[in-house]
Amino acid sequence: MSTGKIIVITAPSGSGKTTLVKHLLEACPHLAFSISACTRNPRKGEVDGRDYYFYEEDRFKKLIEEDAFVEWEMVYTGKYYGTLKAELQRIWDSGKSPLVDIDVHGALAIRDKYPDICKTIFIEAPSLEVLRQRLIARGTETEHSLEERVNKAAHELAFASRFDCIIINDNLDKAREELIQVVENFSGC
Ligand code: 5GP
Repeated sequence: MSTGKIIVITAPSGSGKTTLVKHLLEACPHLAFSISACTRNPRKGEVDGRDYYFYEEDRFKKLIEEDAFVEWEMVYTGKYYGTLKAELQRIWDSGKSPLVDIDVHGALAIRDKYPDICKTIFIEAPSLEVLRQRLIARGTETEHSLEERVNKAAHELAFASRFDCIIINDNLDKAREELIQVVENFSGC
């Protein structure tokens, strides 16, 4: 199995990660977004096979049995997310490096599996309150799922120091430049 490098980005929901990831992919054409599998419903505008592979739970569980994942997690109650081995290989085979956007536990699991080729980056919102406000503004959450996401963000924060680098997204332009610099230093752009 031939491998290139892996960039792993972890950021709580509402930290501005999607925008930063988009900028990074534009600035670094040698990166390709690693499409995760998940069992949550698509949000408005999300496309199967572009944003996620949206699977039924039965199909996801069968893939777990078949050992098809590098890592998988039940990230939110009843909602599974996972990185497919075949997805990383698809990207390496195309001569690129996967940009993996996953939760803290998934990120640390990938680093354990690929310690020599992996860079882990944690993106932090300036505060949990800012994060809560951003999620409210996005308008995609119920009261319950909003609380779950804020609580998860607080939990994830406790793992930030285990990452190779932490970027605080209090200013989008600055965070974008920092992110591109880190990736450039690690794998070229
Ligand atoms: P969302 O539902 O907002 O798209 O994502 C929820 C969380 O799941 C985010 O923290 C995201 O990084 C994480 N996530 C997405 N894909 C994966 C994956 O393949 N594995 C793991 N462990 N987490 C993932």
